[in-house]
Amino acid sequence: MNTLSFEFHSPEQEINDTLFLEKGVRVFVKRDDMIHPFISGNKWRKLKYTLQRVRKENKSTLVTFGGAWSNHLLATACAGATFGFSTIGYVRGDEVHNPVLALCKLYGMELCFISRDDYRDKPSVFEKRFGLDSAAFFINEGGYSQEAAQGCAEIITELQQSYDDILCACGTGATLAGLQQGISNKTMDMQLHGVPVLKGGEFIRKEVQQLGITAQTIKLHTDYHFGGYAKTKPDLLGFIQSFVTQTGIMIEPTYTGKLFYAAYDLIRQDYFARDTKILLIHTGGLTGFLGMYEKF
Ligand SMILES: *Cc1c(COP(=O)(O)O)cnc(C)c1O
Repeated sequence: MNTLSFEFHSPEQEINDTLFLEKGVRVFVKRDDMIHPFISGNKWRKLKYTLQRVRKENKSTLVTFGGAWSNHLLATACAGATFGFSTIGYVRGDEVHNPVLALCKLYGMELCFISRDDYRDKPSVFEKRFGLDSAAFFINEGGYSQEAAQGCAEIITELQQSYDDILCACGTGATLAGLQQGISNKTMDMQLHGVPVLKGGEFIRKEVQQLGITAQTIKLHTDYHFGGYAKTKPDLLGFIQSFVTQTGIMIEPTYTGKLFYAAYDLIRQDYFARDTKILLIHTGGLTGFLGMYEKF
C-alpha cells in the first residue's frame, strides 16, 4: 500500500486585467486546480485527513455519494486507486454513462445508481449494505466533514504572502469552513468571502457552523448562483470564454466560473478599496466543464 503522502503546494499566481489597473486592486489565484488532474483542488484537501483516519481505523473500502458529474466521486475513485482503498460510489438518479463516471470506473470504483428519494438519506443507504461491514467507511457527499475542513485550512498555512480578501466558491461549505479555520489559527487579518453556487446560499453559514467553526465574520455573496446548482446563463458562459482565452486558466460553469464572475463583478462595483490584494481560490473542477461542454 502506498503511503498517504501527497504534498504539493499550489502556486499563487497574479492575474492581470485592465479592470484591476483601473480600480487599483491586485488579484491572485491560488492554483489548487494544479494539485492533481483528477484528485483536483479542494477535493484532495478534503480527502487528505479523511483517508488518514480511514487508514488509522484499519478500514479498506470508501463508500461515498455524488451526482453524475461529481468531482468528489472522481477524486475518491482516483485516490482509492492511488492509495490502495476500494471504492463504491452511489450516484444520484437514473443510470447514465458519461466521461466522469467512465473515469470513476477506470479507477476501479463500483457505481450504484439510486433514486433521488433514497439519495436524501445517505446514512441509511450506507447502513443497509455496510452496517455490519467493519471495513467500510462512510464519506459524505462532497467529502463534507471536520477532516475536510482541517485539510482546507492548509490552504491558508501554505500562503506565501498575505492578502486582504480571500474568495471561494461554496457547495457544501466545507472548504469555506476550513479557510475560516486557517485564518483564525493564523490570527491573520483577512476577510473571507463565500460565493454559494446554489440558490438561497445563506444556508452555507449554518453548514460552516455545523463543522464547529464560527461563521459570523464570513461575507456571503448569494446573488451569483445563476439560477441554481449547475445552472448557467449566457452572461456567465461569455465571461468564462473570455477569461479562459485571456489567462489560460481553466474555469467552468458550476463552481469556479461563478466565483470568478462574482470577483470581477464586485471589483467593477468598487466593492474593494484601492490597493486591496485579493486572492481567489481555484478549487479545481474539470468535470464542471465536461458536463457542459456542449455549451461552448
Ligand atoms: C466540490 C467543489 C466545490 C465546493 O466545495 P465545498 O467544500 O463543498 O463548498 C468548489 N469548487 C469545485 C471546483 C468543486 O469541485
